[in-house]
Amino acid sequence: MKSEFEIAVFPGDGIGPEVVAEAIKVLKTIESKLNLKITINEAPVGGAGYEATGQPLPDASLDTAKKADAILLGAVGGPKWETIDFSLRPERALLGLRSSLGLYANLRPARIFPALVDASTLKREVVEGLDLLVVRELTGGIYFGEPRGIDTNEKGERQGFNTLIYSEPEIERISKIAFDVARKRNSKVCSVDKANVLEATGFWREVVINMHSQYSDIELSHMYVDNCAMQLVRNPKQFDVILTTNMFGDILSDEASMLTGSIGMLPSASLGEKYAMYEPIHGSAPDIAGKELANPLATILSVGMLFKYSFDREEPNRWVEEAVESVLGQGKRTADIMSEGMMQVGTQEMGDLVVAELEKIN
Ligand code: NAD
Repeated sequence: MKSEFEIAVFPGDGIGPEVVAEAIKVLKTIESKLNLKITINEAPVGGAGYEATGQPLPDASLDTAKKADAILLGAVGGPKWETIDFSLRPERALLGLRSSLGLYANLRPARIFPALVDASTLKREVVEGLDLLVVRELTGGIYFGEPRGIDTNEKGERQGFNTLIYSEPEIERISKIAFDVARKRNSKVCSVDKANVLEATGFWREVVINMHSQYSDIELSHMYVDNCAMQLVRNPKQFDVILTTNMFGDILSDEASMLTGSIGMLPSASLGEKYAMYEPIHGSAPDIAGKELANPLATILSVGMLFKYSFDREEPNRWVEEAVESVLGQGKRTADIMSEGMMQVGTQEMGDLVVAELEKIN
């Protein structure tokens, strides 16, 4: 098994560098536990990329990504760049990375840590034990479909339009990812569509069913997106893997993430044929940047996913989850997940506490 890796690290803007610094501590701890050699190549993207080169995704940073075995990203954006041309905004770096690297599958786990059950807005019995994964198609569908635009129709009225389009290979490859990850979980996939109204998603359902013939060990079900939105708050524990389109996944994964209480806790992975990028789901949180208030756990958990999906090592992911659980079990909390009777810690202390727990795991 390979033991030398290169990781491209893009800290980005706002709290990005703060949470990434803690994730690197965790990465280095795992490196030494497993006797690996991991080279970290840091580069600017987002507002940092714009300041350094005038481009949110500098060519050199993209090259660094292409040479790496995996990419770890903090977050991009901030008020400083809100008035510059749209094409140069920090957030363009994300779209640039996704499209240049062909990152077509977005994996967002929503898992509730027992110590944080009461941080959810839903009742304990609804969310306790929750552990689901949304697999969202990321580079196709209505967000990219052509034609698109705003024009004037034959009656002289202005109109806006977009196109929902999915090719068979696009649906096949994302279904394959969902079925493959389900095999490493509880072997259940629920494909979410609007097949009763939209032909493109009726086709989606047909292709998913065809693909399922290669995965007879996986239980496949289908659900309309409106019902899924309701079921996620009614009985989210019925789900294991939710497989869905770009736009439905955008909405449902945000809904699923809030079941767990805080945006500061949720990691994500974006996978393609050749490249993979790991990042917290939150943004650059300029309101709390530089104040030691950022929760680094989403980025730390993203490191666990990196080992699982890019380095094919399940153990470190489990260790990271166990270490996070132990720290939360000790009552240690960053401000965003603070509750009565708990002890508040800063960003760096939270990183150190996770490292200390990781070092105890044999
Ligand atoms: P945000 O996720 O940055 O912040 C939303 C709220 O959650 C804020 O109150 C923030 O303080 C809090 N928060 C976020 N992450 C936290 C953490 N780790 N610990 C504690 N609290 C946390 O979203 P926003 O305010 O809508 O956007 C801010 C900037 O981030 C914008 O420029 C936006 O475009 C950008 N953004 C970037 C990404 C990304 O890089 N992937 C994603 C979303 C937003």
